[in-house]
Amino acid sequence: MEAKIAVGFIGLGAMGAPMSARVAQAGFALTVFDADAARAAEVADRTGARLARDAADAADGADLLVTMLPTSAIVEAVLGGPNGALSRLKPGAVVVEMSSGVPARTVEIARMVRERGGALIDAPVSGGVAKAVSGELAIMVGGDAAPVSLAEPVLQAMGASIVRVGAVGAAHAMKALNNLVSAGGFLIGVEALLIGARFGLDPETMVDVLNASTGMNNSTQKKFKQFVLSRRFNAGFGLDLMVKDLGIALAVAKDTDTPTPFAALCRELWAAAQKTLGPGQDHTAVARFSEMIAGSELGRG
Ligand code: NAD
Repeated sequence: MEAKIAVGFIGLGAMGAPMSARVAQAGFALTVFDADAARAAEVADRTGARLARDAADAADGADLLVTMLPTSAIVEAVLGGPNGALSRLKPGAVVVEMSSGVPARTVEIARMVRERGGALIDAPVSGGVAKAVSGELAIMVGGDAAPVSLAEPVLQAMGASIVRVGAVGAAHAMKALNNLVSAGGFLIGVEALLIGARFGLDPETMVDVLNASTGMNNSTQKKFKQFVLSRRFNAGFGLDLMVKDLGIALAVAKDTDTPTPFAALCRELWAAAQKTLGPGQDHTAVARFSEMIAGSELGRG
């Protein structure tokens, strides 16, 4: 029988907690770590994973080291440095960078990993907390064929769609562009609801009609009734993270010398919402900012 693949998993937040649980359920030998000790202990307890003392301990003995952290800067800090996870990376191990990161920094981090005798692939995800829980994430993958093949069984435990998009960094570019489309769809949809409400249309009925029509998108289907009209604003994806992703998309536009006025306006609006609403908001709360601009509120009754 083949030896069990050993997986170290660093970053057990809104996404990392359910994703690591899927890895444990699939039978891989799992070790977990998070800077939030209580969160890490809770995940270890629930999944039966080994609880690592620090990031380096999470890498100890791991064939695959998954990172699911807020930003590339944090990934770099966790992996690098004298006590970073790479200090204990097993030769031939693969770092699976599943955070939504900055492509150019990912290429740099991959170089750091190579110097330690390992390989890095970027494998960011789409689908939010719900798909992380059900193991049906859309996973985009950048990197060489050999490390991708090694990671594939573990990725399959977390995702329903796994698509290779190119070299290291390509998946991070793809992920930022996906979120650009998603962010634009959200804002234009909310503005349509605000206009319609002032005209006298019922927002709930509008969402139903959009979902049966060509105006349908992921926000009309999965966000407007659930998190905006309900006033719950708790989809589980932070506004700060969305603004980060839009910054990445715009950086890719700049690097590729692509004029994108619509994308730039979209990022400006999300960034203004972040400034106005303050840190720690759910991304669906951006609707509140659109309401402030419009001078009217959506919602049930
Ligand atoms: P989160 O803020 O809920 O979780 C991040 C986790 O990282 C936290 O538990 C935090 O304690 C931990 N952490 C931070 N710094 C650390 C460090 N130095 N060492 C160890 N642990 C550290 O974020 P999330 O929503 O799970 O998102 C993670 C990544 O996935 C982000 O890049 C985000 O953009 C991306 N993403 C999120 C969603 C979503 O719906 N939430 C969907 C797709 C992609």
